[in-house]
Amino acid sequence: MGKRALNQKQIEEIHVLLLQNKQKIETTLRTIDTEHESLSDMDLNDDGDFAAASRDYSNDIHIKKQQLKELNLIDHALKKIEKGEYTGLCEMCDSEISIKRLRVKPHAIYCIDCRSYIDNEKNGN
Ligand SMILES: [Zn+2]
Repeated sequence: MGKRALNQKQIEEIHVLLLQNKQKIETTLRTIDTEHESLSDMDLNDDGDFAAASRDYSNDIHIKKQQLKELNLIDHALKKIEKGEYTGLCEMCDSEISIKRLRVKPHAIYCIDCRSYIDNEKNGN
């Protein structure tokens, strides 16, 4: 067994948080889908209604995309925990991700430095 940043108890804590977040996201996704189903049943005669509805719709698509992305990361972390491979170490530089950060974002796979590096790259800075 290699380097590990977290003890068993902390990993258990992250595990519970991941499962809770997963459930929350699945509920959100289900709610969005149900709303869209009722939206297509609705009679949108008025242009204003339609604009508002499609604005909500594109916002929902945006939320849905983000939630699905987060769900992927959660599943990734859960798989690692199940296989006993979860370390709480950054997947890029191998340094510790603080437990404080993991409590807020249990699916985090990068430390803050690497995360901001990646974000800057994406923004083209
Ligand atoms: Zn890192």
